[in-house]
Amino acid sequence: MGAYLRPVAVPAALAALAEGPPGDAHWVIVAGATDHYPARVGRVLEEDVLDITAIGGLRDIAEIHGGWWIGALTTWTDLVEAPLPSLFDGLKQAALAIGGLQIQSRATLVGNVCNASPAADGMPNLLALDAEVELGSARGARRVPIGEFVTGNRRTARGPDELVTGLFVPAPLPGTTVRSTFEKLGSRAYLVISIAMVAAVVEVSAEGRIARARLAVGACSEVAQRLPELEAALAGRPATGATAALVAPEHLAQLTPIDDIRGTAGYRRDAALTAVRRALERALS
Ligand SMILES: Cc1cc2nc3c(=O)[nH]c(=O)nc-3n(C[C@H](O)[C@H](O)[C@H](O)COP(=O)(O)OP(=O)(O)OC[C@H]3O[C@@H](n4cnc5c(N)ncnc54)[C@H](O)[C@@H]3O)c2cc1C
Repeated sequence: MGAYLRPVAVPAALAALAEGPPGDAHWVIVAGATDHYPARVGRVLEEDVLDITAIGGLRDIAEIHGGWWIGALTTWTDLVEAPLPSLFDGLKQAALAIGGLQIQSRATLVGNVCNASPAADGMPNLLALDAEVELGSARGARRVPIGEFVTGNRRTARGPDELVTGLFVPAPLPGTTVRSTFEKLGSRAYLVISIAMVAAVVEVSAEGRIARARLAVGACSEVAQRLPELEAALAGRPATGATAALVAPEHLAQLTPIDDIRGTAGYRRDAALTAVRRALERALS
């Protein structure tokens, strides 16, 4: 059995992370533990655990200068229940597709990001929202774009002495109407790991044209991917459902899906194309 620490304030957590647990190991940070425990079934728990669930001030969503801050202990249910603008509709739809109510009430958005699974349902929306990951350490604080934070399957840019303290979501373009949607395909409707999922955030000008479209696909590559060529092709187009017909297979060429028990690479590619068209159609109609 390793060491166990449950600090009640961020500075105490950062001091512990700077110092490290007894010996030369690193602390394993635990929030909702809904990824942590299933990854350790049948194993003796010997790691040194830094339980962050008692830290005050991290379970909050706040409008701050230039956007919104989502604290590291915010659960999926907290997000669903928060009065947020339409910018967050897609992320809320993803929240309702994560596990069942028990998981949604316990698990955190930040845990989903830090676990860095290719099938993490929060990632496409957070990428499409240009979210930034806020990291703290005894050395200071920094913000990293989410696309640079998750560097691979189960790999992130977090240093061993750093704690993710929250996420920052920037405000949309001024004078636009925002529509955001999420599409998830699994082998059934609920309680399932995604085969493919898509997030779309579309900002529409007063003239009814697409001022900016941001789209991301998950579970079809090691890390969820934005679709920059499609985004560029959509800019300036009429914001009507018919525009979704413009989506072509070459817009998804950068995806690198794998064959696994849930689907073949070819099926995933096809499903992603359909999901992108659907997400866009829903966002535009
Ligand atoms: C039955 C079941 C169903 C599920 N269904 C889905 C699903 O449909 N879609 C989906 O995407 N996921 C699903 N999950 C996975 C999981 O619930 C989510 O990824 C969840 O959001 C993880 O959050 P958590 O707080 O429980 O993370 P934890 O398990 O506490 O942590 C996950 C990882 O993040 C790290 N971490 C957590 N917080 C921080 C922090 N503040 N700073 C640095 N590192 C941190 C931990 O060290 C660990 O490596 C499911 C899990 C279960 C058990």
